[in-house]
Amino acid sequence: MKNIAILGSTGSIGVQTLDVIRLHKNTLKVVGLAAGEKLDLLERQVREFEPAVVSCSTQVIAATLEQRLSDLIQRPHIGYGIDGAQLVATWGSCDLVVGGLPGSVGLRPTFAAVDAGKDVALATKEVLVMAGDLFMHAVASKGVRLLPVDSEQSAIFQCIQGNKSEGIRRIILTASGGPFRDTPMQEMHSISVEQALDHPRWKMGPKVTIDSATLMNKGLEVIEARWLFEVPVSRIEVLLHPESIVHSMVEFDDGAIMAQLGAPDMRIPISYALAYPDRIASGSAAVDFPRLGRLTFHEPDTNKFPLLAAAYDILRDPDPSSSIVFNAADEVAVDLFLRKRIPFGEISNIVLDAMQRVPGASIRSLDDVEAFHQEVVRIVKAQHEA
Ligand code: MG
Repeated sequence: MKNIAILGSTGSIGVQTLDVIRLHKNTLKVVGLAAGEKLDLLERQVREFEPAVVSCSTQVIAATLEQRLSDLIQRPHIGYGIDGAQLVATWGSCDLVVGGLPGSVGLRPTFAAVDAGKDVALATKEVLVMAGDLFMHAVASKGVRLLPVDSEQSAIFQCIQGNKSEGIRRIILTASGGPFRDTPMQEMHSISVEQALDHPRWKMGPKVTIDSATLMNKGLEVIEARWLFEVPVSRIEVLLHPESIVHSMVEFDDGAIMAQLGAPDMRIPISYALAYPDRIASGSAAVDFPRLGRLTFHEPDTNKFPLLAAAYDILRDPDPSSSIVFNAADEVAVDLFLRKRIPFGEISNIVLDAMQRVPGASIRSLDDVEAFHQEVVRIVKAQHEA
């Protein structure tokens, strides 16, 4: 039996993780669930999976949950806030922590899991983008296993099984191109929230869906790949692949290319991370190749999607704090867009502007990362929220 804790259990990754676990109740056991404010869903999850520890965002929600669960004979320990999420991430009997909290809130609990010696199935991109160096050092010094959940990173991880990373000539990250791949440049500025949230291939949370529409998401994945696989940025390429069947590829020194294919279904990378190195049923549908007919590939237009090009600039910048600026400015800009305060085209302008204007900071610890993130958020908000 493998004991699993899920950070972000009511989000897209969390719900799909539980879908996979539901198929394997004899081998996978949920011991902890950390969620935010979706109380009804969290209550249903607790009743179904009977975790030992649960956490939600606030004390008030925790008290309500406690009340609602009063009929249970085996009641879970209930915490709240970052401390509660950390308690879930470090729970004694837990073997593997699924890091699926969206955004910078996932940082501290994911680090806590590693510090407690837990293996981590990582979906939260911000952990590697904001603190890649610190996190990879922590993973190495604790000797824990880090399993990528992001579909592209999982694909690369699957492609390099049995090979040495020194033999990698090229990592080719595929991107669906989002809903606006073929939208003319001049129409990009006025795209609505509803249009941007309607992703053609993947079922995801709102932040990553908007990031997919700007290709910021692919930029973040370039940064993620650099840390996860320790390859220089010059060896990481992005290729548009609208069908989303090839989830990424690795080319080796001999010219051989390994690719991982499958339906665009997050339950595949999730199940691989849960059962690694075994393979278990994920519930995913089979790929119908004759019906697909063909798979196509195109070079991304970095003029139309400047945030993808900016990610490469970030990785070439010797100042490690620049990726914190990149990420924090986007967090603010996407939030402003989702609240209909700025047009779509302004998202990339805000991020590029912050990269120019916000001075760097010395980063030595997780505290430094969080303090600088907050600082950048404050600066960018002050500029654009007035
Ligand atoms: Mg991805």
